[in-house]
Amino acid sequence: MEDSYVYKGLRKKLVDELSSKNIFSKEILDAIMKVPRHLFIAKGFEQLAYKDKAMPIEAGQTISQPYTVAFQTQMLNIKQGDKVLEIGTGSGYQTAILVEMGAKVFSIERQKELFNSTFLLLNNLNYHPQLFYGDGYLGLPTYSPFDKIIITAGAPFIPEPLKKQLNIGGRMVIPVGEKSQKMILLEKKGENNFDITEHGIFKFVPLIKGKTQ
Ligand code: SAH
Repeated sequence: MEDSYVYKGLRKKLVDELSSKNIFSKEILDAIMKVPRHLFIAKGFEQLAYKDKAMPIEAGQTISQPYTVAFQTQMLNIKQGDKVLEIGTGSGYQTAILVEMGAKVFSIERQKELFNSTFLLLNNLNYHPQLFYGDGYLGLPTYSPFDKIIITAGAPFIPEPLKKQLNIGGRMVIPVGEKSQKMILLEKKGENNFDITEHGIFKFVPLIKGKTQ
């Protein structure tokens, strides 16, 4: 797996750009400095990997814009050892950032080919999250509760199973909406007590029910 000083230089520029856009968490910026984003995007797009832009990956999906990854991660307030559930593994870039930050990551992807290729990539890069091929709407009841839950696709509503699988005191970050999404931060205060706040408008590929064959 290829990294180089050129890519490292570009990553540093990206980190500076994100700090100027109000990403202040040192842990997040350090993780972005470490993860070789050019290996997570479609072949031929490597030169653009460190622009603050979303990019195509396999199966008609996208790798989220670095700012969006950083923003969602910052809202999660990740602590070393946090048990984190991610819905929408996609390229695995967000997954790798969370692993770099010392989280214990569980991630679900509904597209079989994407699941397979990302499984190999993360392994080759020596990242070892627990990856699942399945429907993220259902979460992972057997592994719950989670300290943090991040959804990286646009959800029409907040799935009830995910609210259940969040620890009390835990946080969920989920973009909610159809064409564009409001970034919602849900803080679980009690079994049936949630604080919900909105944090700007974003654009994600849709969260789709069920999994592919
Ligand atoms: N975190 C990813 C973002 C990928 S885009 C990254 O950093 O690259 C969102 C992903 O969510 C797509 O791969 C899509 O297939 C997946 N997805 C959509 N609906 C899903 C569902 N119900 N369960 C699991 N994954 C889903």
